[in-house]
Amino acid sequence: MAEAITDPGQLLEALALDPALLTPALAAAARFRLRVPRAFLARMRHGDPHDPLLRQVLPIGEELAEVAGYDGDPLGEAAANPAPGLLHKYRGRALLVTTGACAVHCRYCFRREFPYEAQVSDSGRWNEAIAAIAADTSIEEIILSGGDPLSLSNPRLAGLTARLAAIPHLRRLRVHTRTPVVLPARVDEGLTAWLRALPWPVVIVVHANHAQEIDRPVAAAFQRLHAAGARLLNQSVLLAGVNDSADALATLSTTLFDAGVLPYYLHLLDRVRGASHFDVPEARARALMREIRARLPGYLVPRLVREEAGAPGKTTVAD
Ligand SMILES: *Cc1c(COP(=O)(O)O)cnc(C)c1O
Ligand code: SF4
Repeated sequence: MAEAITDPGQLLEALALDPALLTPALAAAARFRLRVPRAFLARMRHGDPHDPLLRQVLPIGEELAEVAGYDGDPLGEAAANPAPGLLHKYRGRALLVTTGACAVHCRYCFRREFPYEAQVSDSGRWNEAIAAIAADTSIEEIILSGGDPLSLSNPRLAGLTARLAAIPHLRRLRVHTRTPVVLPARVDEGLTAWLRALPWPVVIVVHANHAQEIDRPVAAAFQRLHAAGARLLNQSVLLAGVNDSADALATLSTTLFDAGVLPYYLHLLDRVRGASHFDVPEARARALMREIRARLPGYLVPRLVREEAGAPGKTTVAD
């Protein structure tokens, strides 16, 4: 993580891109910093400003446009907070914001303006959230999220799950993480030892948007997670200029399957300020779903969903 590229000039140079991209990149990065691990950079094509991986991480001028309907808290998360760091919106499962840090900064991220500092305070960290989980017997599943929970060290993860293990009504643990995709070396022996020792069935939901993200080291990291007993699912975001074609989506599903991962959700973009240029209109999204449904076995078709503030779960969008 320490070796990640955070300087837009360095990114453009590494990929031999037009230096004219630097001024807008610096302006947009001042709002939400650039961060891209070298392992992810290594999968991008040189000299191609439209590379689907680059597009997910390169700050561009369009991010600065104020567009009606796009704001800082599109999911109304500020209102679903029983304790700092705990989001309990859906029945039976609650999401722990374990850290604000991610190995990569995705320009479309719906949490790009989330007030993490207020959520993950250092003093008495997690105490209130764990007390709230222990007090609510309707919660069966904890989702470690963030930011990215694999930004935490293995001992910190183990410390957290040791405290959760004392809560008898928990039955499943889920981890939402993009780190195995962008920084596969993070899936080290300490991490797999932690997974093996957990007292619950574990689901890991990774996040890849394009087949080009799944290279050999990533497939090997998935294999290590699987060997440690985790079930692997993938969530993607439908992104203009990245994966908004039937070919890109179908190839993503089959590539994930070859690497031992089943597609779970395909999210419509959350309307967060700075991400409007990634939007794919819903009618187009539905047409893409019809196309991939006609091409793939049912288990390789992700569910097209959108998140609506106040809804009891993700809202499925019918074809
Ligand atoms: C998406 C989400 C979940 C998980 O929803 P599933 O449909 O179970 O994958 C849980 N809690 C919050 C706050 C979420 O945003
Ligand atoms: S890894 Fe996930 S939480 Fe982190 S910036 Fe990307 S989309 Fe957002």
